[in-house]
Parts: sequence; structure tokens; C-alpha cells
Amino acid sequence: MRLNITLLPGDGIGPEVIEQAVRVIEAVAEIGGHDFSFRKHLIGGVAINETGTPLPRTTLDAALASDAVLLGAVGSPEFDSLAPNMRPEAGLLSIRQALGGYANLRPVKCYEPIANCSPLRAEIIAGTDVLFVRELLGGIYFGEPRGRSNEGDSPSAYNTMRYSVAEIERVARIAFDEALKRRRKVTSVDKANVLETSQLWRETVTRVALDYPTVTLEHLYVDACAMHLITNPLRFDVVLTENLFGDILSDEAAVIAGSLGMLASASIGGAVDLYEPVHGSAPDIAGRGLANPLGAISSAAMLLRHTAKLEQEADDIEEAISAVLYAGHRTQDLKDEATSHSSSTSGMGALVVESLTEIADRRHSYHAV
Ligand code: NAD
Repeated sequence: MRLNITLLPGDGIGPEVIEQAVRVIEAVAEIGGHDFSFRKHLIGGVAINETGTPLPRTTLDAALASDAVLLGAVGSPEFDSLAPNMRPEAGLLSIRQALGGYANLRPVKCYEPIANCSPLRAEIIAGTDVLFVRELLGGIYFGEPRGRSNEGDSPSAYNTMRYSVAEIERVARIAFDEALKRRRKVTSVDKANVLETSQLWRETVTRVALDYPTVTLEHLYVDACAMHLITNPLRFDVVLTENLFGDILSDEAAVIAGSLGMLASASIGGAVDLYEPVHGSAPDIAGRGLANPLGAISSAAMLLRHTAKLEQEADDIEEAISAVLYAGHRTQDLKDEATSHSSSTSGMGALVVESLTEIADRRHSYHAV
């Protein structure tokens, strides 16, 4: 398999974690005889410093010409005083929009050995494995009309939540397709007791479900979902939501993973799929080898699963992460009283590669018997 991947390491810990993700992808290439090529380009603060803009044309062209984009993080306090459209984060928003992914996939897993890193009780969250499928290009963040008004007695502001059947249907299909690869349950989240957009959402998702007779569909109001997520997260498999609800719920659920550094994401369905860890550039720990690379490595696993269709290889990476954690290795964000030593960013990457190689060797010898 050939794959042309654009790397956008960005700022702060972005380059540190992306280096480890690339190492893992290279290990997969070597094990399976794949031909993956990488091209690095500028985005965010480093791009502003070198070119004067957070998303240079060359970066965008390269991203659009590639099979997938793997991004680190952007942002740095030195740019905080710039106008919003000139800041590093503007580069991120522009590339997301240009690549056009309408479905944002955010897996939230609680690996058992680090269940005690979450503020939630370990016995409630251990073993959680939820995939959020959030609609990314519609809803109240984009709906028109929007604005402020000085008419009347008191100034006011307004936004519009709008969804078309086509927008709901395409993201719902992604959620059901993902459920087929998992535990075959979709929880569709809405506020259909109050909002017309939610009523259309519910009707449309119910109709799409007819094409997936082996997947169980349940509907849940967003307020109830927020509660169930932290009281009984094991009940969820795939959670399908519109943009605003998904933004809030996926951040709430992130607490279950134990650290921001564990979380991966993918924005798919557009011209080119974009993969990135959920965390930011973490300027407070940048350049010190303290960053947890597992979110970036999990994003690499998602890239192999969704863009390259290398399901087994993606599973192997996740198994390797789990094995490394079971063996007691931790970056400093996951350290507890029982962990005497913490691994560096590159140390953690090396451990995942080592474990991945062992897993692949084991499978190879099993098939050879
Ligand atoms: P952040 O995610 O960078 O950091 C929040 C906290 O989590 C910090 O204490 C940090 O040290 C820790 N952390 C984050 N990732 C970690 C990792 N992989 N390993 C260990 N610890 C980790 O969020 P912030 O501090 O609010 O923002 C910092 C900068 O990042 C800002 O400029 C912000 O705009 C930007 N940002 C970028 C993105 C992105 O690129 N997708 C997302 C969020 C924030």
C-alpha cells in the first residue's frame, strides 16, 4: 500500500508528538512492506514566523494533494495579542474548512491501567470505549442569519441552528458504518422535545437506521446523555451528535480518558482526511520531553484505519498502547503514587514501536504454524 501523508507538526509539543506518531507509522510500513511517504509543512505560529501567515498556500496545496494530513497542534502565547484572523489558531480553522471533513470522530477510551488518572471513579469508567461522531460543518456554528442588533429597548444577539436532511444523513451513515465495525449500537443525541432541527435529526437518523438492521439505534436527549456519560459510560458505543452538542459532550467525555494527552481525532468525509490529537500546543511543557504522545499515536492509528483501510494495523497500534500501559509505563501526565519513574515523549514512542513489533511477530508466527 502506498500513502502520501502531509505532516503539519505546528507549535509547542506538536512536533514532539508527531515525531513519535511518524515513528509508529514507519514501523507499520516496515512490518507490512508498505510505502508511506511523509512531507512536512508549516502551520500555526512557526508558519507566521517564517512566512507571515498561519496557513501558507504551499501548506494548503500540499495538504490537498496528499492522501491524509497528520497535524500536531498550533498556538503560542507570543501571538496572543494578534487579531484573531492572524493568530496560529486561524490556520487550523482554515485548513479544517478547506479539507472539508464534515464528520469529526473522537474515540474516548479508558485504558484500564490508567483508570485511576481520571477524577471519576475507576470502577465506573474502566473499559469505556465510546466513539463520538460529531457533525462538524453545520448547525448553530455556521447557520445564517447571525449577528447582533441594536433594535428595540435592549441590544440583542442571535444565531441560527439549521440542518438539512442531506447534512444529517451523510454524518449518520458514517456513525452507522462505524458501529458495524464495533459493538453495533448508535446513540443519537438531540433535543427533539424542544428543537425543530432535532426533530428533523431524529426522523432522518431513524430512516437511515433502516439500512442498518443489525445496528441498534437509541435516541437520547442531550441533557440525559451528559448525565449518562459520567455515571454509566460503558452503556455507549457510537454517539452521534450535531455540532454544538458534540463539541460539549466530547469534551465532557474526555475526562474519562485520564489525560488530554491520550485523545485522538479525525475529521473525515471531505477532500482529504485530517487526523490530530485533541490537545493543544501545551507551551507549559514544550521542548522538555514531557508530552504524552499517545493521543498523536492513536491519531496515526485512526489514519491507518480510515484512510488506508488497514484495520488490523490500527488495532495492533491500539493493542500496543494498551500493552505499554499494562506494563506500567507512564508519561508524567499519567503518573500516580504507584509510578516511580515516568517515560519521556520519545521513550513512550519507542515502547509502543517495540510492543507493536512483538504483536506483529506473534501474529506472523501464529500464521506460520
Ligand atoms: P493545551 O491542550 O495545550 O494544554 C492544556 C493542559 O494539558 C496543559 O497543562 C498541558 O501541559 C496539558 N497537556 C496537553 N497536551 C498534553 C500532552 N500531550 N501531554 C501531557 N500534557 C498535555 O491547551 P491550552 O493550554 O488551553 O492551550 C495552549 C495553546 O494551544 C493555546 O495557544 C491554544 O489556542 C492552543 N490550542 C490548540 C489546539 C489545537 O491545535 N488543536 C487545541 C487546543 C488549544
